[in-house]
Amino acid sequence: MTPKIARYLAEQSPATPCLVVDVDRVEERYRALRDALPLARIYYAVKANPAREILTRLVGLGSAFDAASWEEISMCLDAGARPADVSFGNTVKKASNIARAFAAGVDMFAFDCAEELEKLARHAPGSRVYCRLIVENEGADWPLSRKFGTTLDNARDLMLRARDLGLDPYGLSFHVGSQQTATGAYEAAIARVGMLFTDLKAAGLDLRMVNLGGGFPIRYRDDVPGIDSFALAISHAMTEHFGNDLPEMIVEPGRFIVGDAGVVSSEVVLVSRRGIDDGVRWVYLDIGRFGGLAETEGEAIRYGIRTPHDGAATGPVAIAGPTCDGADIMYEKTPYALPLDLESGDRIELLSTGAYVSTYCSTGFNGLKPIQEHYI
Ligand SMILES: *Cc1c(COP(=O)(O)O)cnc(C)c1O
Repeated sequence: MTPKIARYLAEQSPATPCLVVDVDRVEERYRALRDALPLARIYYAVKANPAREILTRLVGLGSAFDAASWEEISMCLDAGARPADVSFGNTVKKASNIARAFAAGVDMFAFDCAEELEKLARHAPGSRVYCRLIVENEGADWPLSRKFGTTLDNARDLMLRARDLGLDPYGLSFHVGSQQTATGAYEAAIARVGMLFTDLKAAGLDLRMVNLGGGFPIRYRDDVPGIDSFALAISHAMTEHFGNDLPEMIVEPGRFIVGDAGVVSSEVVLVSRRGIDDGVRWVYLDIGRFGGLAETEGEAIRYGIRTPHDGAATGPVAIAGPTCDGADIMYEKTPYALPLDLESGDRIELLSTGAYVSTYCSTGFNGLKPIQEHYI
């Protein structure tokens, strides 16, 4: 938690549940990534947190944007982004969305199948297209694996097809999975891309770009390798597989840029035992899986928690949300210990919740109000 957020929570005591994001911290993270990987252009993955304040700050810093829908594209343009700096990176796009994006001046699109390529040829003729490869997501706490991407063989055919359809076969992309903690995942993916890239250039295509996706991890409860380790692994792998003739490089970070810039403030609704003799207290918060903490599914993302009683004796807990849904449990298997003094009415903080919380928040499960957001 940044000092600015701590001060804001102490002085304002905003109604809970709420998300407080320190936009200066977003800028710091953007600069850290840019310094670590100076050869790559940053396309911020808008879905991680599309708040106007964040987009505006990033536009000012010269960032480009990875958008997944016309609505996200339009948020970027409204925040001052140039259409040429927006990539329509979803491989699954409505035809009407493609047409609107193209009309607005967006000319870079992702695809992973012939069907999508045909839509692009029809609704965004002549534009730059890049093919997404399926790569291993091992090592990622939040894998994206099988839903997107195609095989090397198929990608080769598709890129040649793109040229025949009058599109500009611009490059190749992959995503190693979100919260990827293994630098080797990037090295392995770059090796795959490198092979196909060389092969397609030999076949006469004017390929210019490699999109390394997002996935860079942040610290939740466990340490993760620093951004320099990822930058080093990527630079080595790029040099090994592309030699001196490096293509344009793109990265699409989401979590890395905004994750640790945000804190959720939440009220403890109840601490109970209910006579179930497993020694575990149940802590119910006023935010849960449907209020924005969707990444706790499978207990995949494990947020750090601060309480007003930190330092006092603790005991094991299960942590759940406020709705009447049995799936609305954040942590039951992961060992969490919270102070024995914790009680109903206490305000606690969930740390590093700047990414993938406001966007996952449902708008009214059980009549609960969606999370309030404060950008400071
Ligand atoms: C979600 C997404 C990202 C951002 O991933 P992070 O793990 O948050 O960095 C980047 N690119 C694409 C295509 C995505 O779908």
